[in-house]
Amino acid sequence: MELLKNKVLQEGIVLGEQVLKVDSFLNHQVDPVLMMEIGKEFAARFAGERITKVLTIESSGIAPAVMTALQLGVPLIFARKRKSLTLRDDLLTEKVYSFTKQEESEVSVSKKFLSPGDRVLLIDDFLANGEAAFGLARISEKAGATVAGIGIVIEKAFQPGGRKLLDAGYRVESLAPIASLADGRVTFADKPEP
Ligand code: 5GP
Repeated sequence: MELLKNKVLQEGIVLGEQVLKVDSFLNHQVDPVLMMEIGKEFAARFAGERITKVLTIESSGIAPAVMTALQLGVPLIFARKRKSLTLRDDLLTEKVYSFTKQEESEVSVSKKFLSPGDRVLLIDDFLANGEAAFGLARISEKAGATVAGIGIVIEKAFQPGGRKLLDAGYRVESLAPIASLADGRVTFADKPEP
C-alpha cells in the first residue's frame, strides 16, 4: 500500500535492526485519514471472506481494526490485556509473549462476543514473531469460530511470524512488508502491489 509505505519512509524511526517506531501515525498519535485508507484496503482484500467479526489486541491494533470493521459493517472486538477483569469464568484467555515489552501477558476476550459460526478477521499493527496473532487465533478457535484471515499493517518480513502463520494455514495480508531495517533504513520487501 503506497500511501502507508510513504508514511513509513517519511516518519518511521528505525530503532536498531529489529524495531521500527511509528508513533507519529499509529502507535501514539494516530492519523485517522490513513487509518481509514488502511481499513478500506483490508476490507477490499478480505471482501470475499464473509467476515463477521474483526478482532485485535489493545491498544495499537484498535485504530486500524475499527476502520476495517466500519468498512466491513461488522463489530470490532479488542482483546484486553488487563488481569483484573471480573467474571473470569466468562473469558477466553491466552498467554502472549510481547515482542516490545519482552514479557508474557494474558489477553482475554469475553465469551459472549465470539461464537461458533463467526468468521474472524484478525488485525494487528505489527507482525514480528507472530505471538500476538497466534494468541488471537487460539482465542477465536477456542470459541469455535473460524479465523478467516489475518491483516497486518506493518510486517517485519525478516522475522518469522509471517512464515509461521502461513505454515499454520492462515491467510495473511500485510500492507507494508519490510525486508530489512539494516543501516538505519527501511527497505520494503519486493512484493508486487495488488
Ligand atoms: P509478534 O507478536 O508478532 O511477535 O509482535 C507483534 C506485536 O508486537 C504487535 O502487536 C506490536 O505491538 C509489537 N511490535 C512488534 N514489533 C514491533 C515494532 O518494530 N515496532 C512497534 N512499534 N511494535 C512492534
